[in-house]
Amino acid sequence: MVAAIRVHRYGGPEVLQLEEIELPPPAKGEIRVRQKAIGVNFIDTYFRTGLYKAPQLPFIAGNEAAGEVTALGEGVEGFAIGDRVAYVVTLGCYAAERNVPAAMAVKLPAAISDETAAAMMLKGLTAEYLLHRTYKVRPGDTILVHAAAGGVGQILTQWGKHLGATVIGTAGTEEKAALARENGCDHVILYRSEDFAKRVAEITKGEKCNVVYDGVGKTTFEGSLDSLRPLGVLASFGNASGPVSDFNLGILGPKGSLFVTRPTLFTFIPRRAWLEEMAGRLFEVVASGAVKIAISRRAPLADAAEVHRALEGRETTGAVILTP
Ligand code: NDP
Repeated sequence: MVAAIRVHRYGGPEVLQLEEIELPPPAKGEIRVRQKAIGVNFIDTYFRTGLYKAPQLPFIAGNEAAGEVTALGEGVEGFAIGDRVAYVVTLGCYAAERNVPAAMAVKLPAAISDETAAAMMLKGLTAEYLLHRTYKVRPGDTILVHAAAGGVGQILTQWGKHLGATVIGTAGTEEKAALARENGCDHVILYRSEDFAKRVAEITKGEKCNVVYDGVGKTTFEGSLDSLRPLGVLASFGNASGPVSDFNLGILGPKGSLFVTRPTLFTFIPRRAWLEEMAGRLFEVVASGAVKIAISRRAPLADAAEVHRALEGRETTGAVILTP
C-alpha cells in the first residue's frame, strides 16, 4: 500500500484526502518511482476545484515530482533501477510511490537535487517555452512578468534577465516586491494598488513591452494588452485570479495588431525531442547559477490541503514542495 492524496469530488482544499492505495506493477512503457519530493503548482488547485476536469474521479492530485526508479515495465529503454528522475504528468503525483510513463521522465544530472527538481520541472519547463518558444526573448527586450515573486514568476524573472531583457514585475505586497527585485526585476509595480498598465507606459517612456507573461488571468488581462507595444505578444498562461472570458478579438487591431496566445506546457512535453531540449536548457541555467530555485515551504504530503489554502490565499512565494 502507498500513501496518496486523492480527490473524490471537486471542491475546496478539504477534498484533498490522505489515503492508502494499491499500486500495481509498472505497465508496459512505465517506470516505478519512489518519490522523494513533489512539486505543488497552481494547476493542482484547478484540478481540485474542477476548473480543469480530471479524466475520472477519484483521482490522485499533483502534476510534478522527482524520485528514484525502483522497477521497470516491459519494453522500457534508457532507464535503470536506481536512476534519479523527474517528470511533469497530468495528475497522480501526490503519492509516496507511483508508475510514470518513461516517455515523460528525464534523468537528473548530479547538480540538480531531488528537491530542486520537484520545485522546478513544471515551473521551469514552462518558463523555458514561454521565453524561448512562445516569444523568443532577445537582449534589449522589455518584458512584463506578473506575480513575479511566485513560482513561475521568479524563474521567468531571473531567466529573462539572463537573456538580456529589461524585466518589469508585478507583485501583490511590498515583501513580494522586494523579493522580485532581489530576483532581478528592474522595476516592480504593486498591481493591487497601482494601475500597472499606466506605470508600464511611464517606466518605458511610452514604448511599452515586447511581451507580457500573464499567469494571473481575469484581473490583469485588459491591462496586459494595454502594456504591449504594436505587434506585442500576450502569453496568457494561467488563471490565478480566474479564467479570462468574453474576449473580443476585434480589440487587438486598434491596440496595435497584437498577438494573444493561451499556451500550455502539455502541448510541448509530449514531444520527447522538445522535452529533452527544454529540460537540458533548464538544467543548464540552474546548474550554472543563472537561475536559482527558491523553495519557500516544505510540508509533509498529509498537509496538502493546508498548502493549497496558502497558495490560493496568495501567501506563498517561489516554490512549495511536499515530501512523502
Ligand atoms: P504562483 O506561485 O505564481 O501563485 C500564484 C500567484 O498569483 C499568487 O502568489 C499571487 O501573487 C498571484 N495572484 C494574483 N491574483 C490572485 C488571486 N486572485 N488569487 C490567487 N493568486 C493571485 O503559482 P504558480 O507559479 O504555480 O503558477 C503561476 C501561474 O502560472 C498560474 O496561473 C498557473 O496556472 C500558471 N501556469 C501555467 C502553465 C502553462 O503551461 N499554461 C504551467 C505552469 C503554471 P501576488 O500576491 O504577487 O499577486
